[in-house]
Amino acid sequence: MIVPFLDLKSINLCFRDDFHAALDRVLDSGQTILGEEVHFFEQEFASYCDVNHCIGVGTGLDALYLVLNAWGIGHGDEVIVPSNTFIATWLAVSHTGALPIAVEPDPASFNIDPIGIEKAITPRTRAIIVVHLFGQPADMDEIMSIAEKYGLKVLEDAAQAHGARYYGRRTGGLGHAAGFSFYPSKNLGALGDGGAITTNDPELADRVRALRNYGSRIKYRNQEKGFNSRLDELQAAFLRIKLPYLDAGNSRRNEIATLYQKKLRNPCIESPTVCVWAESAWHLYVIRTQRRDELMQHLEGLGIGTSIHYPMPPHMQDAYNDSSMAGNINPLASQLAGELLSLPMGPHLSDEQVNVVIQACMEFH
Ligand SMILES: *Cc1c(COP(=O)(O)O)cnc(C)c1O
Repeated sequence: MIVPFLDLKSINLCFRDDFHAALDRVLDSGQTILGEEVHFFEQEFASYCDVNHCIGVGTGLDALYLVLNAWGIGHGDEVIVPSNTFIATWLAVSHTGALPIAVEPDPASFNIDPIGIEKAITPRTRAIIVVHLFGQPADMDEIMSIAEKYGLKVLEDAAQAHGARYYGRRTGGLGHAAGFSFYPSKNLGALGDGGAITTNDPELADRVRALRNYGSRIKYRNQEKGFNSRLDELQAAFLRIKLPYLDAGNSRRNEIATLYQKKLRNPCIESPTVCVWAESAWHLYVIRTQRRDELMQHLEGLGIGTSIHYPMPPHMQDAYNDSSMAGNINPLASQLAGELLSLPMGPHLSDEQVNVVIQACMEFH
């Protein structure tokens, strides 16, 4: 590949010596579960997101699920989710026993459409999960005012939006709580699985802190039926090394996005829309074209890696092929699945490589 879609190896190798030192630090501490590294990472990530509380958990899916669980959401409840998202957003709802109710995206931003949210609210609705898809914050002021009007909780799925800003405010503190993922390919990625919950609500923070650790606040005392979903001590140590470089990585992503936006001109390719409120984290640079598969092959032939996010929306997956989903057709999400293409994006790319991609896209007829 002349331009790889993603190069995690080179991103992580920059930190090789620091990672080795972190392993030594954890070995020397003798603490391998919920030790100092998790403790300090939680403080540092809370401060990064401008929130009061951060709780490290096992995965991004767990982060979302544990918040819904702590809010007491379960059987008979409905939670509004975007039709156009990674399936984890839906699974977090389904695992509580509640029903995910899909709302279609705004066709320009690909993020959940507030007008659709209000139409989907029923007496059973308890919460809304917004996804800051591809790194761009959703229309939070609008969504928070709808939530307030109907007494609903708002959970941010910020798995793709570490460090993104909405009118200058960081994601993670825009709703009542947020779930982050540190899956290796995310803007802040560990060397394995990891996740975190952020919130300004002290009661929720206390609740999920217990839930992630067997429902225990005092050793061998279990006030509730909790789970085992703790951020791994070593992963926390690795994340502490990478966190100070997150803003620089996001700025580099923004430079690359700007290059694409300015130079890529092709009538059959639609560039992504940046909303007025958004400083996107540019987790992905996603273009839209009716000739997606052809373009993908054209780029592949020139040694340029691309990817599809996502080839099949949650409602079309076998996992959701059941009667509770009847009538859930989401034509826009289905259409986007056939037209979206993610171009190479990440701090591993040079300007020369980005220009190769731009040139190749402009030669596509
Ligand atoms: C990656 C991702 C998740 C899940 O995170 P994991 O850590 O893999 O469980 C959830 N939602 C979105 C939008 C994601 O991109």
